[in-house]
Amino acid sequence: MRIRKPYKKKKKIGPIGVLVIALALLVPIGAAGVGALYLMEDMEKPTVTLYPDIDAVSLKKEFTVKAGDPGSGIKSLVVTAGQGLKKYTVLRKSYDALQKSVLETFSLEKAELRGGEFDLQVVATDGSFFNFGAGNSSHINKRMTLDLSPPNVRALTPTHYMRQGGVGLVIYTVSKDPERSGVMVGDRFFPGFKQDSGQYLCLFAYPRDVEAEDFKPRLYAEDKAGNERTGFFVNMAIKRRFRDERVDISDEFLAAKMPAFASLYPDVRDPLALFRKVNDDLRRKDEAVLRDLGRKTSPKPLWNGPFVYLRGSSVLGSFGAMRSYYYKGEKIDEQCHLGIDLASTPAAPVPAANDGSVVFVGNLGLYGQTVVIDHGLGLQTLYGHLSRIDVKAGEFVTKGQFIGRTGSTGLAFGDHLHFGVALSGQEVIPIEWWDAKWLEDNVTQKIRRFGETPQS
Ligand SMILES: [Zn+2]
Repeated sequence: MRIRKPYKKKKKIGPIGVLVIALALLVPIGAAGVGALYLMEDMEKPTVTLYPDIDAVSLKKEFTVKAGDPGSGIKSLVVTAGQGLKKYTVLRKSYDALQKSVLETFSLEKAELRGGEFDLQVVATDGSFFNFGAGNSSHINKRMTLDLSPPNVRALTPTHYMRQGGVGLVIYTVSKDPERSGVMVGDRFFPGFKQDSGQYLCLFAYPRDVEAEDFKPRLYAEDKAGNERTGFFVNMAIKRRFRDERVDISDEFLAAKMPAFASLYPDVRDPLALFRKVNDDLRRKDEAVLRDLGRKTSPKPLWNGPFVYLRGSSVLGSFGAMRSYYYKGEKIDEQCHLGIDLASTPAAPVPAANDGSVVFVGNLGLYGQTVVIDHGLGLQTLYGHLSRIDVKAGEFVTKGQFIGRTGSTGLAFGDHLHFGVALSGQEVIPIEWWDAKWLEDNVTQKIRRFGETPQS
């Protein structure tokens, strides 16, 4: 009964009065309700990470900052660098449409910092109502050092005589531990490897497709802070003439070889079109595989003396030859042959050219059944078109050990061995490595004279 009493009293206010009271009560309750929902939905702070995680940095070093907020989304991202009383904004982003995750890059180039310590601050803010609508923020505060001095890099070896398609060895020192160092040839990079003596050994190529006047290798070093230094060193570039070879493609060849490649290019039905596709597109893909394999290398030389080759073989196709492909008398393609084709008896046993570890076993595009052996410092040998393989990836092999048998798998014209030498994936002329005098004069003697004395 008592409960009913206020009811009766309320009735006396009348329906309009009730409506006014209800509205007056509802509005703030509603707003609080919405606010509560937001709070429940996003009380989590944004996540923010900075890459790379380093203490010393150059003005050029590029940082990546990643911020995420699965609740309400990222509203803004601000990066500042402070030194003494000065503060510089190096990145300021605000997102009109809130983002679940953002990825931005910045460097310190715009900040007028002096060398030495400074404070880097990253602030990521989400779009929640938290903080009276200002959002929820996450900070990264990091004391860092601005390092403005690039490493010094100096060649110890004198003049490097290089023949087009061939290899040179430079031995150098770097004044401080580099992030990476080596030789740049155009945009191709050949890494150097630090030895116990403190010196770096770098095998680098004078690529077949670079003209003598354009061959300007530079020593390169980048420290962990991102400071770079390049230096010229003395090189004598010797031009080499390469052969032209003609290859005739018959219908029999297409009928025998193309079905094996059909599944790679299901859209290409015509056998001749498929041949051209394989000869070009698949060749580029093989090159990319070789570049990746080139990074799987020992930092120390694994080879031992001159390299050996397929015994009793004759050369069918030479390194660097420009091959013109003809079909029914008409030229249909042109490609550079970057290995040596050696023919012996069918299914002849194939020796490992030198000591090393097997880094690839399997089917490799044009080369068919293939083995790649790493000899260290980025130097690798490739054995293509094999009919049989007797080694496993990861296995260490010794010079002369039989690794398989010749065959005609892949895009091969009859039973032969395609023997290739690659340096960080760049194919180079194999004969230099078979030549005991070249090896002594250009590699072994240099290591003895310049690479083995520990630095004081
Ligand atoms: Zn070949």
